[in-house]
Amino acid sequence: MSADYHVHGTVAVITLNNPPVNGLGLETRTAAVQGMRRALADDAVKAIVITGAGKAFSGGADIREFNSPKALAEPSLHSLIRTVEDSTKPVVAAIHSVAMGGGLELALGCNYRVATPGAQIALPEVKLGLLPGAGGTQRLPRVLGLEPALNMIVSGAPVMSEKLAGTGLFDAVFGADDNVLEKAIAFANSVADVRPLPKVRDRKVDYPNHEAFLQFSRNTVKAMSGPFPAPLECVETVAASITKKFEDGLAFERDRFIALMQTTESKALRHAFFSERMTSKVPDLAADTPVRTINKAAVIGAGTMGGGIAMNFANAGIPVTIVEMKQEALDKGLATIRKNYENTLKKGKLTQQKFEQRVALITGALDYAAIADADIVVEAVFEDMGVKETVFKKLDEVMKQGAILASNTSTLDVDKIAAFTSRPQDVIGTHFFSPANVMKLLEIVRGAKTGKDVLATALALSKKLKKTGVVSGVCDGFIGNRMIEQYSRQAGFLLEEGCLPEQVDKAVEKFGFAMGPFRMGDLAGNDIGWYIRKRRYVESPEITYSKTADLLCEMGRFGQKTGGGWYDYKAGDRKAYPNEAVNAMIVQHSADLGIERRKISDQEIVERLVYALVNEGAHILEEGIALRASDIDMVYLTGYGFPLHRGGPMFYADTVGLPNVLGAMERMARGRHGDAWKPAPLLVKLAAEGKGFNG
Ligand code: NAD
Repeated sequence: MSADYHVHGTVAVITLNNPPVNGLGLETRTAAVQGMRRALADDAVKAIVITGAGKAFSGGADIREFNSPKALAEPSLHSLIRTVEDSTKPVVAAIHSVAMGGGLELALGCNYRVATPGAQIALPEVKLGLLPGAGGTQRLPRVLGLEPALNMIVSGAPVMSEKLAGTGLFDAVFGADDNVLEKAIAFANSVADVRPLPKVRDRKVDYPNHEAFLQFSRNTVKAMSGPFPAPLECVETVAASITKKFEDGLAFERDRFIALMQTTESKALRHAFFSERMTSKVPDLAADTPVRTINKAAVIGAGTMGGGIAMNFANAGIPVTIVEMKQEALDKGLATIRKNYENTLKKGKLTQQKFEQRVALITGALDYAAIADADIVVEAVFEDMGVKETVFKKLDEVMKQGAILASNTSTLDVDKIAAFTSRPQDVIGTHFFSPANVMKLLEIVRGAKTGKDVLATALALSKKLKKTGVVSGVCDGFIGNRMIEQYSRQAGFLLEEGCLPEQVDKAVEKFGFAMGPFRMGDLAGNDIGWYIRKRRYVESPEITYSKTADLLCEMGRFGQKTGGGWYDYKAGDRKAYPNEAVNAMIVQHSADLGIERRKISDQEIVERLVYALVNEGAHILEEGIALRASDIDMVYLTGYGFPLHRGGPMFYADTVGLPNVLGAMERMARGRHGDAWKPAPLLVKLAAEGKGFNG
């Protein structure tokens, strides 16, 4: 049973009991319906209270039931709500802590609702590309009014219960110290004889000139929801609460809900939601793997990454010391951090007190002795094996036993780095993304000898730092950069064959990427890739690259930091302006190679760039570098601006159909640099089996 039943005097209490948040799974729904029947059959019971055990009234649908037949099995949430609403005895919802989604919809089916302050009230379905499908769109406007209900449903944002006191949603909001159950039972006693029973469905939504308001809402919501259909569907179903009879509105809501369930956009959002939860699950880590305590952190290098990484620790309340080689570099790094926080303060996103706290948590040092007792040290010095060697040998010498020695390297071999120390079990890669204080992704690179407790600690730390921690095995570039290399190679080949940077960027941005590859290159600095390619020309001469990016760097055009790269930039303006000399260089390079430039379609551009990611992703999966396809998707959604509504590269390939992806790759294999299109065996296998990467 996942709901309890007790009788207090003449009041029956049904307590939803399905930890952690009383999700309305099949067992809970069944037990709640049984509780209702029992209370209705008992003549001694005059009124009924529904409440939730532990940390919530109810968080809504049980997400463990998503995609399982249980979600649709009877009694459905609709049937439960109907049973409650049709009750011949008054039913009171006693709300505390959380009433969200289906939980709030259940409460709306009750005759009365009482709450404690501080409870989060929300219909968040829109965040999964859906709408409240158990009457929420029809009942909430009837208690709150059209406009506030529409705002809550379209945004999905929680509102605190005390802010809703005095609305038709709550019959009483008690004091913070009140016992909600005791108060609710007293309330139930006070209304036990009131007839007729008040029902939300019997109310009417009044709004003067509602059509004008609804049209305004449609226009605004359409402009703000990008590729996602759900917000506008929310407006349409809420509109039905005023334009249709209750039962017709419910039927309309059900239709629109089912239609949204089928959309790729909702599937992508649900995929991202579940994938995020999966990232922390590592098959050989037991739930009780010990986690080391992190009370004090250190960072080596106060450059671009070191400063941002230090801010992450300070933001989480962990004191952090940054070690630099020279006072000047240290001062510069600390000043940049301070300026960053000052900007946030100016924008009103940080209080003065928090600003001071955070700045105070970050200290600088020139001597490693200052960090010897840190629980974790993250190295963010130059991307050079020699420099990493010096630093890790030093860390091995000075750091206390049990400290975690982490490297922020983007491409270097973490096992080699670990071998510079006498404690490879304590070494791990923590690959932050730039700007490190903003980007959500943290690739956690597990070396061959990394201790399980060290991995578990890094995963726990990623949560503490509010990052999406994705585990990667050791390989050149790990998951994200190894894949982006193939994407960038294709972008370069497209320039040789007939594109200009602007066409490539526009096509990819139309597909939904936050930024095309050339604008991205200008932002990150084209010299970084140049440096990496120079290493590859020596280490892996078999890999081919377009020379255009090298020629660009030879022109001194490293990107925004040098005033221009693939494009020109103007001060105070983030727009990219095509540069004639760069475009002439590209055209000339094609001529030098004897290539007759051709017109390339946007579709070809997108296919070449995205399928390059997919094919490399398949290799990464096959080699066990990534634990699962959804981890790769999370890397791309949180670190590379892959369009959320497409669910990540591997999910996207699944929606296109792997045989179709393979077909396009076979076509591309007949073009220039066709050898880049040798399909990964896993891709061929899954396509033949009619499967997708995500099952
Ligand atoms: P950076 O050049 O901005 O900063 C490196 C800093 O390290 C400099 O301030 C330098 O003075 C300091 N340093 C060098 N040797 C040192 C030593 N022995 N002791 C103490 N300090 C030392 O470089 P960055 O962009 O911050 O990159 C740092 C690391 O992070 C590299 O491994 C890089 O590959 C990786 N990374 C960079 C990015 C990015 O976008 N910049 C993203 C992810 C990872």
